[in-house]
Amino acid sequence: MKIIDIINSKKACLSFEVFPPKTSDKFESVKQAVDKIAALSPDFMSVTYGAGGGTSDYTVAVAKRIKELGVEPLAHLSCISSDRKDVAKKLEALKSEGIDNVLALRGDIPKDFSGNLDYHYASELVKECKDTGNFCIGGACYPEGHPESATLFSDIENLKKKVDAGCDFLTTQMFFDNDVFYSFLSKVREAGIYVPVIAGIMPVTNAAQIKRIISLSGGYLPTRFKRIVDRFGDNPKAMCEAGIIYASEQIIDLYANGVKAVHVYSMNKPEVAAAIKANLSSII
Ligand code: FAD
Repeated sequence: MKIIDIINSKKACLSFEVFPPKTSDKFESVKQAVDKIAALSPDFMSVTYGAGGGTSDYTVAVAKRIKELGVEPLAHLSCISSDRKDVAKKLEALKSEGIDNVLALRGDIPKDFSGNLDYHYASELVKECKDTGNFCIGGACYPEGHPESATLFSDIENLKKKVDAGCDFLTTQMFFDNDVFYSFLSKVREAGIYVPVIAGIMPVTNAAQIKRIISLSGGYLPTRFKRIVDRFGDNPKAMCEAGIIYASEQIIDLYANGVKAVHVYSMNKPEVAAAIKANLSSII
């Protein structure tokens, strides 16, 4: 089933994210995490591609497992390190497994990269997915602007090109202040982008995640969040509890303000996904 149809048919949606293993010997432990998260019956589950500690090799296999468990998978696919033949093969593999949903990404430009690229921006991959098959296509967006963009305004101009190339929905980078998201959403709508925007929420469950999170999210951490990390960062149990509650409160506020779809960067942590789901048990 297409994610856009799920979003359109429901009052509120909740999805979780997993990442594939780096090596085949880790597949079983990832599979166990995937099974436990799928048992929570999210509206869909996304599988990253060469990000979050996994590689690109097992994205399709993990997506296939999610489908077997009766949950709709969203397979991430990035293009910057691939050529057109590679991408065609990967799209074919997704099609042959009956995977309907692709998050079409550019990926980060490798630091030491030189030479010719087949792809420069995600919009080229979006177009290719559209031309190749009957995929429902998502794109990434950045409430604080993508780090390479000079301004949020120019980033949204580029986002419009990507949506016009064929995105059915967008998913945001993580953010920790919902006002940042609301402000972004109004700018996106003003720019003439009308596809659903899924709000990406990251439960921060240990202080070690913070450095990477700052580089991903654009750097803005609200004082309330910083105080939690300062106070509980060196106490893993307390940080985990506080991080789950902080994320749950963000999600409740999003739904209360009419946001239809929330995606949780649950990584491969079923206990975190379960705790968030439990906090929303009468809400979703
Ligand atoms: P693009 O949409 O191509 O944008 C990249 C930059 O180029 C932006 O600054 C944009 O403004 C600019 N740009 C776009 N089009 C044009 C144009 N026509 N002219 C000039 N400038 C332009 N990475 C992974 O490797 N694997 C994953 O699984 C993964 N999952 C992600 C999921 C989400 C929800 C998000 C938000 C990010 C994810 N990423 C993942 C990270 C992502 O690959 C990086 O942030 C990457 O740097 C940008 O990818 P993009 O698809 O947003 O690129």
